[in-house]
Amino acid sequence: MTNLNFEIKMETDDDGYATFECPFCESTFGLSALEFNDEKNSIYNEMYCPYCGLSDEINHFYPKEVIEQVKNMAINYMNDEINKMFSKMIKSTNNKYIKMTYKPLKNRKIENIKTQEGTENIFECHNCKNHIKVEYCVGKAKVFCTYCGLDI
Ligand SMILES: [Zn+2]
Ligand SMILES: [Zn+2]
Repeated sequence: MTNLNFEIKMETDDDGYATFECPFCESTFGLSALEFNDEKNSIYNEMYCPYCGLSDEINHFYPKEVIEQVKNMAINYMNDEINKMFSKMIKSTNNKYIKMTYKPLKNRKIENIKTQEGTENIFECHNCKNHIKVEYCVGKAKVFCTYCGLDI
């Protein structure tokens, strides 16, 4: 098996924040795409939910639409491979044996993922200086830093 890397493109909101989703409490929060891609943050291989404070691997925080998109990309990739295989087969067998017709598999449409605009507040972590956009409710005063896990 070869290792496949699918490039996922997440569209950010007007502030440059992409949406992530907690695998535990299913709450969504935003992270600055610039900071998320920043070299200095590549030291973090886990992510903390700003709401419940639980941590998991970063790729478990991708929103459902992104997972769906990755699945579709994987399906498209397989379709392409099958299509290639069949067109090769058709080329090599057509003259000698039976006539094969093969209709190429149709690829699924990959939609651009839009980040919803919400009434969210941007917090800065006093420890690592990264920014997190959370839906801040009164009474739910605790916000954890997604990167270092500290209570902001
Ligand atoms: Zn959570
Ligand atoms: Zn932090």
